[in-house]
Amino acid sequence: MNAIDPMNYEKIVFFTGAGMSAESGIPTYRGRGGVWKQYNWEEYACQDAFNDDPRKVLKFHELRRKAVLECEPHAGHHVIARLAKSHSGITVVTQNIDGMHQRAGNRNILELHGSLWRLRCPTHGIFEDIGETYERYRCEQCDAWLRPDIVWFGDSLDPEITRMSVISIAQCDLFVSIGTSGVVWPAAGYPEVARKNGAFCIEINPELNQMSHLYDESIRQTAGNALPLIFPEH
Ligand code: NAD
Repeated sequence: MNAIDPMNYEKIVFFTGAGMSAESGIPTYRGRGGVWKQYNWEEYACQDAFNDDPRKVLKFHELRRKAVLECEPHAGHHVIARLAKSHSGITVVTQNIDGMHQRAGNRNILELHGSLWRLRCPTHGIFEDIGETYERYRCEQCDAWLRPDIVWFGDSLDPEITRMSVISIAQCDLFVSIGTSGVVWPAAGYPEVARKNGAFCIEINPELNQMSHLYDESIRQTAGNALPLIFPEH
């Protein structure tokens, strides 16, 4: 694995999945200790569950928030945040909802699957809410239940976030995918978008997956080990 000088690239996309947060202590969904091995998503992570029992769904998401707040961003998150401060062409496209990139100090994040740290009123829009428990369960203006602004099972992705993500990926000359298994669509198609447009594509993942053949280089290490080695501080 060779070090990369980010200044040799005009536009860089870091594309992150659940494995990016694994070393912070946040479990991946499918792997060992995964959330959906313990909880039935049909009861906690879809619109029907929320319609049936919003309080139960909100309480479940409070548990998730508490678990995430007990974790800290790791060296890999800090490397990306450091690069974004010195290089204006960096975009992070993430499938994660945990807000770890932001907690490391990064701001330019496209969150494909929403965020644990926002709530949404069907009429009055989206509210940031960052405590361990939600400040309120109901909209102050219309009293509707506020739902987590997360893409649940059966939901569509936000078309504007998707559009901006695809544009960033199509325009980048370096694409670094970190900790994603390549099974959740449309995100699984993003390496192909980058590759078609001529970007140099790197994968950081300790395990091989069905998209690994699309990368110019696969680094079989964890995010926290690989990122500081690939992008050393000068
Ligand atoms: P996934 O669970 O399907 O796959 C995780 C991938 O990360 C695997 O390929 C695994 O080999 C790799 N990995 C594990 N540890 C790693 C490490 N230390 N460094 C680098 N790679 C590592 O995750 P996915 O592809 O992101 O898809 C799952 C979906 O679940 C996504 O849509 C995501 O939104 C959601 N999710 C989010 C979080 C979060 O917010 N932290 C956590 C779990 C799942």
